[in-house]
Amino acid sequence: MRAVVFEEFGRDAKVQDVPDPVPSGQGVVVRVEATGLCRSDWHGWMGHDPDITLPHVPGHELAGVVEAVGSAVVNWRPGDRVTVPFICACGRCPACAAGAQQVCERQTQPGFTHWGSFASYVALEQADVNLVAVPEGLSFAAAAGLGCRFATAFRAVVGQGRVAPGEWVAVHGCGGVGLSAVMIAAACGAQVVAVDVSARALELARSFGAVECVDASAYPGGADEAVRELTGGGAHLSLDALGSPVTCAASVRSLRWRGRHVQVGLLPTAPVVPMARVIGLELEILGSHGMAAHDYPPMMDMVRSGALRPELLVTSTIALDAAPAALAAMGTALGAGVTIIEPAK
Ligand SMILES: [Zn+2]
Ligand SMILES: [Zn+2]
Repeated sequence: MRAVVFEEFGRDAKVQDVPDPVPSGQGVVVRVEATGLCRSDWHGWMGHDPDITLPHVPGHELAGVVEAVGSAVVNWRPGDRVTVPFICACGRCPACAAGAQQVCERQTQPGFTHWGSFASYVALEQADVNLVAVPEGLSFAAAAGLGCRFATAFRAVVGQGRVAPGEWVAVHGCGGVGLSAVMIAAACGAQVVAVDVSARALELARSFGAVECVDASAYPGGADEAVRELTGGGAHLSLDALGSPVTCAASVRSLRWRGRHVQVGLLPTAPVVPMARVIGLELEILGSHGMAAHDYPPMMDMVRSGALRPELLVTSTIALDAAPAALAAMGTALGAGVTIIEPAK
């Protein structure tokens, strides 16, 4: 098969011919129809993820068709349209037994712990625990995001963030996961303040339901003051969807008393969190890490009803040959919306 391979961190990834994967007993191999280019792929390529061994194939946000199933798989067969949470749970550890597959103690992650989906085929473990059916009406390009950014945003806003109608929600960073969060929070009846340095990203955020947009380039130290002003004292819920010391601290400072901060973006360097404010205002600091397959139904219901429209997030589709350059470009140019790679085209 063809795959994007890198042999050194931060240096040229190339499309190469490599052996086809085979499914493990409880795993499947999926023919990749669409795979998103996510900032986590860039972090992995840069060497920020300790799980990655070289040579490596990135890609973890995918949708496609089951090609081959392991002998112990019960619920899936070749031809099924599927996506998968990028955190593939073991199904048996104490976290899994408690229903918290997104923090599984023995998780695998395509594109991190093993070769990922910037390829014609990808192997996925524990299919009966992890696969999610993609309805006929949903395109593979739209479904790919349900494996990482869209589902992560859903859990951050609805699960960890406990959004309620009428609340103010600030979203710092409107890339793929941030724009997903804007759409989801607005669909849940919240009033959303979108924060980004890109005019195009803010334009998309407004079209997805943000009632206020803040150009963060006017606030190099963080846009929290603008958010507190627009929300009459601070947001009830604020997300750092980018992952930087500035956006993390700004998100915490954006909150009103007893507000909730959810850290979604990965932080390559440790932020300084304003802990005096966390104490004085009784703020909650929460992490959010993907979403378990069994938590997908409420999100899929909102997709099916049209309340959520993940297809609107896809702003460009590229072939596998264009993926290495697009991966490298993620470090500097944070494009607006989501780029999807289509390995079969
Ligand atoms: Zn991702
Ligand atoms: Zn587990």
